Amino acid sequence: MSGDLVLRGGRVIDPAAGLDTQADVAITDGRIAAIGPGLTGHRVEDVTGHIVVPGLIDLHTHIYRGGTSLALDPLAITRMSGATTLVDAGSAGASNFEGFRDHVIRPAPMRIFAFLNISYAGIFAWKPGLMFGESSDLRLLDMAECLRVVQENRDTIVGVKVRLGSYASGAMGLAPLDMALEVAEAAGVPVMAHIDYVPPTGREVLDRLRPGDVLTHACKGFPNSLLRGDGRILPAALAARARGVLFDIGHGTISFDQDTAARLADLGFVPDFISSDLHAMCVDGERFHLLTVMSKMLAIGVPLAEVIARATATPAAYLRQDDLGTLRPGAVADVTALALDGTALRLAGCWIGGKRFDL
Ligand SMILES: [Zn+2]
Repeated sequence: MSGDLVLRGGRVIDPAAGLDTQADVAITDGRIAAIGPGLTGHRVEDVTGHIVVPGLIDLHTHIYRGGTSLALDPLAITRMSGATTLVDAGSAGASNFEGFRDHVIRPAPMRIFAFLNISYAGIFAWKPGLMFGESSDLRLLDMAECLRVVQENRDTIVGVKVRLGSYASGAMGLAPLDMALEVAEAAGVPVMAHIDYVPPTGREVLDRLRPGDVLTHACKGFPNSLLRGDGRILPAALAARARGVLFDIGHGTISFDQDTAARLADLGFVPDFISSDLHAMCVDGERFHLLTVMSKMLAIGVPLAEVIARATATPAAYLRQDDLGTLRPGAVADVTALALDGTALRLAGCWIGGKRFDL
C-alpha cells in the first residue's frame, strides 16, 4: 500500500477506531488511505517517537479576529495547539456573522464551525477594564434574527451560544437562556451555555438544559461550581448528565480550577469535551491552549486515550462530522503529531487535508 504521503513510525492513537499501535499512516488525495506497518509513499515524513492522532478539535475558541475584541487569529491557535478544527463559541451574533463567515471562516485553512450568540451583537465589548455583557440588555437578544442566521448557515453554525452570569447577562437571570433555548428548539440545534457568577445559579441553568445541550466551564471553581462544598457533585449536574446534557471544559482564564477538575475526575465526572476557550486574555504568560488543557487532564490521571477522545472522536460525533476526529481509511487526512513528556503534550506537527500546516 502506498500513498502521496506517509507519516512513518509513530504511535497511532485513534479512539474512534479503538486503535493504539505502532504504525504508518498513508494519505492520498487529502484522505487517509491506510494505517499499518511498512507503508510506502511518494513523500515520507518521519514521526518516530511521536503520538499520531486525528486532527484535534477545539470545541471552544474565540476567533472572529478583527470583529470582536476577545478574538485570536485562528492560525495562531492551530500553530500553538495543532487543532485542525476550531469551533467558535459565540463570538459573533446575527448582526456580524456574515463578516465572520466571509472574512475569517471561509479563507481559513483549518475547519471552523460556530455557535451563534443569542445576542444580536455577539461578544462585542470585552477587554480588561471593560466588560459589557452582551446578554445584559434584553433589547440585544433578537430571537428572530438569531433563528434566521442559524437557518441560513447550517453548514457552519452548529448551535446557539448564550453567556449567563453577572458578567455576561447582568441581572437578566434565566431570560437569555430561555430565549436561546427557544431559538435552538425552533432551529433544531443545541445550546451551549456559559456560566460565570450568580445570578443565575448553575443549578437553575442545568435544570433547563436539554439532551444534547452543552454546559461549558464545567471545571470552574466557586461560585457556580459543579462541586458542592462537601466535595460531592451537584445533583443537578448528575441529573443533567443522565439525561444527555454534555459538559465542556472551556478552560479560559478563570473558568478552570485544577482541584475541581481533579475531584470531578475522581468521582468519574470527566467533562465530555476538552477545549481551551482560548481568547485574547489568555495568551500572555502561560498559554492555556488545547494541549495545555489536555496535559492538565493527563496530570490529574485521565488516561491518554480518553483525553485524546475528548478532543477528537467525541467532538467530531457531536458536530456530526463523520470524516473528522478519526484516522480510519477514507476519513479526511487531518492529523496531529504530539510529543509526550511525562504528562505534558507538545505539538510536533499537523496536517490539514494531508497538507502539512506550517508551524
Ligand atoms: Zn468562551
